[in-house]
Amino acid sequence: MRQTGTVLRRRKADPMGQHWLLSRAVRDLSLIDIADMSEQDAFIFFRKQRWGVKDEQSCPTCGVLDSHYFRKTRFQWRCKHCDAYFSVTTKTPLADHKLSFKKMLLMLFEFTASPNGISASSLSRKLGVTYKTAWVFCHKLRESITRAIDNAPFSGEIHVDGGHFGGKPRSGQFRHKAKPEDIANKIKLGKSQGAKRSSQSRANFNRKKRNRRIVMVIREVVPGLGGVKTRCLLSLSEDEKTAKHIAQNYIKKGSLVRTDESPAYTSYSMYFTHETVEHSKEYSTVNGVNNNQAESFFSRLRRSEYGVFHRMMAKYMIDYANEMAWREDCRKKTEKERLSDLLGKTLSAGLSKWWRGYWQGAKRNDEMRVPID
Ligand SMILES: [Zn+2]
Repeated sequence: MRQTGTVLRRRKADPMGQHWLLSRAVRDLSLIDIADMSEQDAFIFFRKQRWGVKDEQSCPTCGVLDSHYFRKTRFQWRCKHCDAYFSVTTKTPLADHKLSFKKMLLMLFEFTASPNGISASSLSRKLGVTYKTAWVFCHKLRESITRAIDNAPFSGEIHVDGGHFGGKPRSGQFRHKAKPEDIANKIKLGKSQGAKRSSQSRANFNRKKRNRRIVMVIREVVPGLGGVKTRCLLSLSEDEKTAKHIAQNYIKKGSLVRTDESPAYTSYSMYFTHETVEHSKEYSTVNGVNNNQAESFFSRLRRSEYGVFHRMMAKYMIDYANEMAWREDCRKKTEKERLSDLLGKTLSAGLSKWWRGYWQGAKRNDEMRVPID
């Protein structure tokens, strides 16, 4: 017992020794807390995120900040100046919602508390809503994250890299067995891995080509803190044109940029202090040159692709990438801070341009790829 006490005291004296996600500080809001809320409490949470102050609201129609007439039974206000009715979600992606505030808060919590994201089907079963509702709800949150992206150029130490996502080939109808002579050869050579199977079919190759995209990531790194700001871009290939587009539009001249040895980045020494790491040999050079913060972002996106979403359509891949970038940047926030951050972004994003009327046929066609020709 004495041993345990010593360990606890030492932890208290040295809070940095504990992993952030295991600390008490991170657990400032739980699913139980939201489940115990009344509809009124949940409404107040929304109101606080939208206007901050308790007794004043800014009318979404005329913009006047005042203490407008409140209709308690409908959670709505009537503007003192233009007579328009509005609610806490008017002119936001959640406008005209049919879900209760409490249910929306529960869905938001499920979304923010899942480190690798949550699939629409999982959310629909957990919260008892239809798949369609959950799908559009999650995408509206992703749209809000995308609209709140800070466009200021990156400076300081920056890691840039590209990762291949989507277009995973299917194994197909037939199992392609290795030829007996190949197996015999392998045994003769003493190789441990299985014999090479016949190459993938043409159809599979085309599927891969059609759906595979490159997610380019730019991360600002502060030594000791890791990645602090993340930006994603979608591209067809990790080539010189894409690299140049990034250099000219997203990074301040004179920054320290670290990449791998891909030939796409050869022009970077013209704009920046450019350092490279040869990934076929090492993850970090002896001098500590690495682009591991870009890799750690890819790790999260890869895990969510394989483990949560299973498939990302090329059309919506940038939305998922932006979601994971937000998760990376919020990783040191508490549960309540993360939820408030996302709800704040959602309530200030304006009406949804991509997901309003989605199931009625209003689909977004733009993949939002760069560079734009
Ligand atoms: Zn008004």
